[in-house]
Amino acid sequence: MNAYLVPNTIVVSRGCPHRCDFCYQESFFGTGRSFYTARVDRALAEITELPGRHLYFLDDHLFGSPEFADALFIGMKGMDRLWQAAGTVRTVLRGHTLEHAVACGLRSLFIGFETLSAEALGSQGKRHNLGHDYAEAIRKLHDLGVMINGSFVFGFDQDDPSVFERTVDWALRQGIETATFHILTPYPGTRMTARLNAEGRILTRDWTKYNTRHAVFQPAQMSPEQLERGYRQAYRQYYSWPGVIRSAATKPGLAGKIRHAAYTCGWKKSETIWKWIIRSGALGLARPTLEAVLALGNRGATHGQAAGDQSAPWLLPGQAHVPERSRHSQRVVV
Ligand code: SF4
Repeated sequence: MNAYLVPNTIVVSRGCPHRCDFCYQESFFGTGRSFYTARVDRALAEITELPGRHLYFLDDHLFGSPEFADALFIGMKGMDRLWQAAGTVRTVLRGHTLEHAVACGLRSLFIGFETLSAEALGSQGKRHNLGHDYAEAIRKLHDLGVMINGSFVFGFDQDDPSVFERTVDWALRQGIETATFHILTPYPGTRMTARLNAEGRILTRDWTKYNTRHAVFQPAQMSPEQLERGYRQAYRQYYSWPGVIRSAATKPGLAGKIRHAAYTCGWKKSETIWKWIIRSGALGLARPTLEAVLALGNRGATHGQAAGDQSAPWLLPGQAHVPERSRHSQRVVV
């Protein structure tokens, strides 16, 4: 148990009910059923068996079936768990599933915002993000004490060189605790790859570069080098000290600000410390700290200003891969 910070990883569904053009998941699951869930009673029995308090659901979209999610979360009430998972903007805003999730321990949610451009979302078939107010989803999560790991993708045909700064600035103003940035990557078998192929825009089939950190296709409005530079700059800017302070400052109350800063710094600004802890085989000893930071969430619930990062050292391979309006908020309905 001490070799891992997060030993309780669990999967209770497979795939995703959506079909975004750039997403690997449909080609990954091939010709089989691409989305299905476990039986609720079996999932609950498995959760009951897991030791400790913290859980990490690795499902692509834990909220993919609202009926399953509601039944699971209602069944988990009283188990005294703290957990993290991935969902979508739409599921955050729909019905009372999120409230059920928070009541049984949800404290951090990975959300694929992907882009602030409605046109880009539409062109990639991510229509379930359209027509929703991102800021409203963020505010709802923060009001309920749920931290956000927001995922953003650069390189859509609608992206020009200003996309990096605009995206980072928006995410910081929303008080998103952690952000993961990705370069759009044409994985084999996706509809987007077929399109880029037909247009002769795939630049390399060196699979070692298909890791969302390299530009392996010709972007529409910038050079591949600009795309890679902008991506790196986005990370630097987001996790700079001024960035962390600006984002944490959006939280009301000292506890909210401390929780935000502690989580962000643990995620991205403590790699040397994590490496040392991993080498010493004492990663599990950091678990109570993670649980304490997550547990802070429901006390003094926060509202921000406005949903797996491979590089986070404590994640296991395969884990990465989501009140009144503040006067500073910007309404983004995509
Ligand atoms: S990008 Fe997210 S919502 Fe779209 S298909 Fe993939 S997992 Fe589902």
